[in-house]
Amino acid sequence: CGIVAYIGPREAYPVILKGLKRLEYRGYDSAGVALLDQNLNVYKKKGKVADLEETLVGKNLHSHIGIGHTRWATHGEPNDRNAHPHLSASGKLAMIHNGIIENYAQLKEDLVRKGYVFHSDTDTEVLLNFIEDIRNNLGCPLEEAVRVALKRVVGAYVIVLMDQDTPDTIITARKGSPLVIGIGKNEHFLASDASPIIEYTKEVVYVNDYELAIIKADELILKNLGNERQTPYIQKLDMEL
Ligand code: GLU
Repeated sequence: CGIVAYIGPREAYPVILKGLKRLEYRGYDSAGVALLDQNLNVYKKKGKVADLEETLVGKNLHSHIGIGHTRWATHGEPNDRNAHPHLSASGKLAMIHNGIIENYAQLKEDLVRKGYVFHSDTDTEVLLNFIEDIRNNLGCPLEEAVRVALKRVVGAYVIVLMDQDTPDTIITARKGSPLVIGIGKNEHFLASDASPIIEYTKEVVYVNDYELAIIKADELILKNLGNERQTPYIQKLDMEL
């Protein structure tokens, strides 16, 4: 399973597709991408990355921000519906997730009682709507809703979110599942390991557990879940392709 994301001047889709292929060795049962042009579009499919690629031939995939995922099903069978990215109830947020949300059942029960309808059987969609619900209630920025939500979450995760209303920003956070951010010139790459990043940049930040990042093309802000700014520790990759 793996995640890849991009924000910057390049076309996001080819970067993400190639990255997902580099992560195939980790194993997976489905793949998907979310891209944002005028609208937030999600494409996902059970099967190989190549199957996803095939269904997207001829589509307008223009976007300078995107997230991509390969899924190893833990909650909900492998099918198109349960594949990531997932969309929030409002349709404005898209999220990918590697890992497991252990207390998802309780969170889901609370959300269902509030009237939320779920379109998949995943723990991921529960966390996503939990984040959206907090944002609606607090009227706060997405990063703050993510931070508040994650303090209530038990489990392991790397999550990456896009918001239709802030097309210049990617939000990510991790605990227990791996996450590398590649720093380019006016662009950022995110991936589960450095292999999708290395051809673009050698400068990377390994995000620590309980850290959250707010990423724009030209800016990387790192915080811990206590909302304290952290100084990104930039390392140089010495591996070759
Ligand atoms: N628990 C999530 C799911 O079943 C994510 C699985 C993964 O790590 O790919 O959809």
